[in-house]
Amino acid sequence: MNAFHTASEDDIRKGRTTDVYFKNAMKIFEAKGLGGESVVAEFTTTSLPEDGTWGVFVGLDDVLSLLEGLPVDLYSLPEGTIFRPRDTQGVLTPVMFLEGPYKEFCIYETPLLGFICHPSGITTKAARVKKAAGDAGVMSFGIRRMHPAIAPSIDRSAYVGGCDAISCIAGAEEVGVEPTGTMPHSLTIIFGSPEDAFRAYHEVLPEDIKRIALVDTYHDETLETFMASEAVGDKLYGVRLDTPSSRRGDLIKIVQEVKWEMEVRGIDATIITSGGMNEYNIPPLKKAGVTSFGVGTSVSNARTINFAMDIVEKEGEPAAKRGKFSGKKKVFRCPECLAYKNLPWNTTAAPTCTCGVEMEPMLKRYLRKGVPTKERPPVSELRNKQLLQLAKAEAPWLEG
Ligand SMILES: [Zn+2]
Repeated sequence: MNAFHTASEDDIRKGRTTDVYFKNAMKIFEAKGLGGESVVAEFTTTSLPEDGTWGVFVGLDDVLSLLEGLPVDLYSLPEGTIFRPRDTQGVLTPVMFLEGPYKEFCIYETPLLGFICHPSGITTKAARVKKAAGDAGVMSFGIRRMHPAIAPSIDRSAYVGGCDAISCIAGAEEVGVEPTGTMPHSLTIIFGSPEDAFRAYHEVLPEDIKRIALVDTYHDETLETFMASEAVGDKLYGVRLDTPSSRRGDLIKIVQEVKWEMEVRGIDATIITSGGMNEYNIPPLKKAGVTSFGVGTSVSNARTINFAMDIVEKEGEPAAKRGKFSGKKKVFRCPECLAYKNLPWNTTAAPTCTCGVEMEPMLKRYLRKGVPTKERPPVSELRNKQLLQLAKAEAPWLEG
């Protein structure tokens, strides 16, 4: 184990992060000469957090890193795919399925689920937030609320979900973007005054870093905005309101006032809010004039998606526990309304959606006997494809 309470990569590969009952099952299989049966195991969820009607699937990249080299086939939705837990007939949607001798991946059920459940929850929440923000910017600032060992995974998931910027240095490196940040309250406190902090911030940091002043440390937001404008001049890109909840009163009204006071003084800067931002409170703030949102815990601590792994076929025959749908399936999705239709594996013709559009097969083969059959696309490409789907996804929480 590491010095921190985290598993190493080696621990995960050796099955040390798995639930012990899989290790025990393996002992029994070995004693009785079983476990070599070829099975199909599906990953499905029966529901989504917050009564969501769709989720965004991610985590495949880590799944591949674990399974490459094992004698198994893996079919999966591409990362960043919008999925629905069930199709139009109520059949559970497999987001991935594995095929091969059960004993080859039995002990990996726990880590495989871990790779997709929490990250997909984060991506789904980020997509809901981005849907609410529309053309306004969304910055992921929430890694501090979760274990640092998973910070890169959190920001990668948030980015695929549609966050425009991420704050984690290692996460941004992995995604291939520059990390984004504003300034901490500690800067103003150490300098003793917002003016001095803003001036030093402007003086020291390289020119290509956008000047975003945090304007709620000691004084009123409008007053600190004027101070930032004084100190930074026309290089002031934005002001961030992280107003503490004890002083908040009505954040929408504070934003309206700051916006007005900037306008009458000719201060041309964007307004950014942070602190408790989510898909429900973003729309009215956007209407009031906020152009970027710093989202934290709502995304990083997003509710996990309860995917489960279940055997649905054994030695080519349908076999599933109660509540699951047996047999290997082809998964089709309507490219327009994103409705799903899950059909038996031997289906050849793509079905037509009730909206009249021909549906598309969604599961792609990623591993053949452990050998990769597809390239891993850049994260920016996953994000772009996700956003095209998000534009078509319904957002009932934005209505009424
Ligand atoms: Zn359709």
